[in-house]
Amino acid sequence: MPTYSHSKLETFENCPMRYKLQYIDKVEVEEFVSIEAFMGSLVHETLEKLYQDVRMTRVPTLDELLQYYDGRWDDEWREGIKVVKKAYTADHYRQVGRRCIGDYYAEYHPFDQARTVALEHLVFFPLDDDEHYWIRGIIDRISMNGGVYEIHDYKTSSRLMTQRAADRDRQLALYQIGLERMWKDAKDVQLVWHFLAFGKEIRSTRTREDLERLREDVMGLISRIEGERNFYPRETPLCNWCAYTEYCPAKSPVRVDAATAANRYLGEDGAALVNKFADLSRRKGEVEEEMARIKEALVEYAKKNRVQTIRGDRHKVLVKLYRGYSFPGKDEPARKELERIVREAGLWEKVAVLSPVSLAKLIEGGRIDGDVAEAIKALGEETERPWLKLSNL
Ligand code: SF4
Repeated sequence: MPTYSHSKLETFENCPMRYKLQYIDKVEVEEFVSIEAFMGSLVHETLEKLYQDVRMTRVPTLDELLQYYDGRWDDEWREGIKVVKKAYTADHYRQVGRRCIGDYYAEYHPFDQARTVALEHLVFFPLDDDEHYWIRGIIDRISMNGGVYEIHDYKTSSRLMTQRAADRDRQLALYQIGLERMWKDAKDVQLVWHFLAFGKEIRSTRTREDLERLREDVMGLISRIEGERNFYPRETPLCNWCAYTEYCPAKSPVRVDAATAANRYLGEDGAALVNKFADLSRRKGEVEEEMARIKEALVEYAKKNRVQTIRGDRHKVLVKLYRGYSFPGKDEPARKELERIVREAGLWEKVAVLSPVSLAKLIEGGRIDGDVAEAIKALGEETERPWLKLSNL
């Protein structure tokens, strides 16, 4: 039974190729632990220890916690932990971790804001009745405050989430669905992020509709992943933290075998194609056919080598392939049949979109009757759009 976690879904969204290498091909790579992940996991461990002690009615001192953190750092530190940002040393990160713990301690001591129910708790649950879509995750801390359950998540990242992002966050909202299955009285749930590097707490809640929409979105994303055939590499700054660069076609491009077809550019090296393309772009008009042939060859090159970006000497070309369906337009003969099938299948409401332009035309042409027209107009705004055209005298 395939299971998904928030981070697995996020890997696909960030780079489908990495997802394939990591989760489908399960390519074995040398362990890749970034210093950020190392420091984050030790801060999590220290806060877990803190709440374990508090549950046992013992509040540790800050010194004890920092000693614990330093001890774990020394025990676990090993060669090969990657410090990607060259401006900082491992010790800078160690100090950031210490500061996160110190600030948290100062803010929440004596840690009696809520009663801890579970620490590092596994949630594992299906999203649908057929139990096809399974979600797995670990909640840092679950607590109860009166009748309200709180899902706590510790973040040591150097980016502070906005309230808007928290209100749309997927990870903790998914955990809420799991938590509600575990405890039937969990009706009131708060999602709480602790951005430790900023000493800031952010809270958010979800409505039933939000959770239902999330459930559908995640199932849709999983179906997309399971139906995906082209796992393209998506190059971003996150590549610096990727353990699969050695296996990634975007990072170690292979060459196309040989020139074949009528288009003499097909099969040419990607860099040569980009250089030629940049050169011809400056002479547009004279050379459109030539440009079309190079474009075709670039697309062919990108497909064969499974890359999106092709580099030349001084330029690069981004090639994106959008796959989809095209259906008959309004005036084409098959359109009526298409609409009939969609309506009979009860899909019309889902796919039909309100056209504000057509609506405005109906109103302007007086083709909607009195009260309805007034009600619609009340929701809109009368506008005046200027249109100017410049031409030779
Ligand atoms: S190196 Fe970058 S593009 Fe390649 S798999 Fe990793 S994240 Fe994706």
